Amino acid sequence: MAQKRDYYEVLGVAKTASEDEIKKAYRQIAIKYHPDRNPGDKQAEEKFKEAAEAYNVLHDPQKRQQYDQFGFAGPMGGGGFDGFGGSSMNMDDIFSMFGDIFGGHGFGGFGGRRSSRPQQHRGSDLRLKVRLSLEEISIGVTKKFKLRKDVPCTHCHGTGAEDGSGHETCPTCHGSGIITHTTQSIFGMMQTQGVCPTCQGEGQVIKNKCKSCNGLGVIKGEEVVEIVIPAGVAEGMVVNVPGKGNAGQRGGIPGDIQVYIEEEENDTFVRDGNDLIYNLLLDFPTAALGGEVTIPTIEGKSLKVKIESGTQPGKTMRLRGKGLPAVQGYGSGNGDLVVNISVYVPKTLSREERKAMESFRDSDNFKGDRQTQESIFNRFKNFFS
Ligand SMILES: [Zn+2]
Ligand SMILES: [Zn+2]
Repeated sequence: MAQKRDYYEVLGVAKTASEDEIKKAYRQIAIKYHPDRNPGDKQAEEKFKEAAEAYNVLHDPQKRQQYDQFGFAGPMGGGGFDGFGGSSMNMDDIFSMFGDIFGGHGFGGFGGRRSSRPQQHRGSDLRLKVRLSLEEISIGVTKKFKLRKDVPCTHCHGTGAEDGSGHETCPTCHGSGIITHTTQSIFGMMQTQGVCPTCQGEGQVIKNKCKSCNGLGVIKGEEVVEIVIPAGVAEGMVVNVPGKGNAGQRGGIPGDIQVYIEEEENDTFVRDGNDLIYNLLLDFPTAALGGEVTIPTIEGKSLKVKIESGTQPGKTMRLRGKGLPAVQGYGSGNGDLVVNISVYVPKTLSREERKAMESFRDSDNFKGDRQTQESIFNRFKNFFS
């Protein structure tokens, strides 16, 4: 075994150094010789490992005491401090063992980096607008769109690799997927971590990139997408179509399509939630005599509706279930068709019509609802007496 340097010497601290001093010293050395800052530098890597080994012993009171007493040939066995046979310790061990020293907020330490890798490249979402008539909304509709979007590369089948060539460890981050930046600030050396720009956090890169897609696994393409819009949607709603957005890079899951609903005005009906309002202009004779009228429906059918004699303007009829359906999962059943009745008064009259109307005017029965007037009068009389 090569001559080992004294652990205190490695960390540059006195034998009487406190735990905090040891930790601080190790931290400085670890930052200085961190492989992310010294890619491919073997000497730096050795120094990094040497410091890690020293810290492993000195920061543990029991191990430190043994080391102080017995030196490298401690009572723990022939190999000294087990698992630290010089360069036999590998980087992953160091990272998982000392994650805490870099610890702190946000970056979770080195130890957890494998599981904290970002998910495979998910394709981005696409947004569409669709303008629908009330008739389309009432029954639901399937719309076709020709979209320009990222599609899997046909040459490499979305893998990004040429001729099925495999992957290799990312040279920038050595497989960790994370790079560390050290900057000088007024608080001292500050470390920040970020996703490795070379491998986007995967820790691996493709050996031979596909020539068609330059290793992305996706190319620009066109696709005709059929989008099913359920009945009952309304202006401002968003219909999400999972998996139909941009393809994910290198086999990542595809994004979604979000369809924003716009609603056209309708000449016949006014929408009120799931109810439809129809304004019926009733002719005066039918309002007086009663009869039957025809009401259109949103499905393009017509309904025969009975009008009672003496129907007043402002009366409302509610035709149950003849409105719009509720969107799946947002309530059940249909809204109503609400008929608001007003009465048509002719703008011009023929000589005969005028005569007839004048005779109506002289009839007591056409002078308004006396009962109603009297009841109002009596109420106020009692109130003031
Ligand atoms: Zn390709
Ligand atoms: Zn990398």
